[in-house]
Amino acid sequence: MGINVALDGPSGAGKSTIAKKVAAKFGFIYVDTGALYRSVAYYTVSQGTDPGDTDKVIAGLAGCRVGLEYREGTQCVIVNGEDVSDKIRTPEISMAASKTSAIPQVRSFLFDLQKDIAAKNDIIMDGRDIGTVVLPEAQVKVFLTASAEERANRRFKELREKGDPSTYEEVLADINQRDYNDTHRETAPLRKAEDAVEVDSTSMSPADVIETIAALITERTGAQPVKKKAARERKPLLDFSGVEPVKRGKKLNPIRMFFYNLLRYIVLGGFKIAYNLKYEGKENVPKDGSNIFASNHRGYVDPVFISLACRVPNTFMAKEELFHGKKFFVWIIKKFGAFPVERGKGDMQAINTSFEKLNSGRNLVIFPEGTRSHDGKVGRGKTGVALIAAVAQCPVIPVGINYEGEKLKFRKKVVIRFGKPISPEQLKITTPGAKELKLLRSTVMDSITELVH
Ligand code: C5P
Repeated sequence: MGINVALDGPSGAGKSTIAKKVAAKFGFIYVDTGALYRSVAYYTVSQGTDPGDTDKVIAGLAGCRVGLEYREGTQCVIVNGEDVSDKIRTPEISMAASKTSAIPQVRSFLFDLQKDIAAKNDIIMDGRDIGTVVLPEAQVKVFLTASAEERANRRFKELREKGDPSTYEEVLADINQRDYNDTHRETAPLRKAEDAVEVDSTSMSPADVIETIAALITERTGAQPVKKKAARERKPLLDFSGVEPVKRGKKLNPIRMFFYNLLRYIVLGGFKIAYNLKYEGKENVPKDGSNIFASNHRGYVDPVFISLACRVPNTFMAKEELFHGKKFFVWIIKKFGAFPVERGKGDMQAINTSFEKLNSGRNLVIFPEGTRSHDGKVGRGKTGVALIAAVAQCPVIPVGINYEGEKLKFRKKVVIRFGKPISPEQLKITTPGAKELKLLRSTVMDSITELVH
């Protein structure tokens, strides 16, 4: 667990403004959990479901996929591939979120996402139940309040600047209603955690609130504010300036493709006999090329398992050491599209080769863990996959390779699962800084993990 700061409080207490500034001050990631609840409400409303119809809201959750992305340090909420960050900020969605967030199933639906991001990063997370339910072990807990009138006043000004026609009285009534909903719901009601520090901002300036919380963070965790200049000059991990995204849609030679696919079917037949091989989610495998397959790694046969489901030939990175082996072996793996990568070195040559292969219309298979897993559990993954995906702007198809035990055995059941492609839109980041790449890696690794069971 990194440094976790929980910031709870009622609607309109200024949590997000304060949390954003504190996050920038310490170089933490700011997680706005209200946006997650709003996105579920947005999805509910956009499906034509009444947010007060609990059963229908719950039934709808199965088709709702919520994710967080960070672009230049700003949180974006993605619902089923669509960036809804702006659309969730209307009074209609505020009230709908206040209703749907009272449903226990909605809360548990968003729970893992919040836990996960807090486990992997230094974060400040704002919400209603962060200190009490989501991160009870957070090192710093703050309960930020202000009088209902002061909160209504601030929100009214904010809405007016955006051109919203709501009156002060309407905003105040709205705030009172949401306070009531938040404090009276049965699951995870809004309340101050016993070990939280209460900060009443009614007559404090934002700068004073930030200073108070910053002092608390330093006192409790030893974290110091990062120097402003260093934060602004965050360097990209590798210099990708001048590298163009991959041009997709390149056609491969049809005669070669015919023979390739003939051979593929023959080998597939052999594999189906040798292993009890099953594919799931094959509809997620694109028929064209220039895609990235990101998979967990169990054994040397993995690239073949994946390639046998793809019409377009795959290429894959293999550890450098393999290319110093027996000549015949090296010839075979090269024929099957392997090219060398020096692990752990941010190998620019391998990254360039990946781009060449993708530009040639072939797919690229990457094993982000960098090494095989013996117990079948998915490891952490390297940021290289995120970097290639972000710059190449090709869809990433998550793959889960499943079989029991450590080694592959004759007639043993092998299940290869292909997940929904992660679109280039979801993979877009503007600065390949460490923070953004780590989050992108989490998106890819989480999708792989979902397919391994
Ligand atoms: O903070 P924000 O106003 O964006 O939150 C929208 C709604 O989501 C709130 O009215 C609240 O009911 C709900 N919420 C919640 N738990 C959180 C964050 C928000 O119930 N952790």
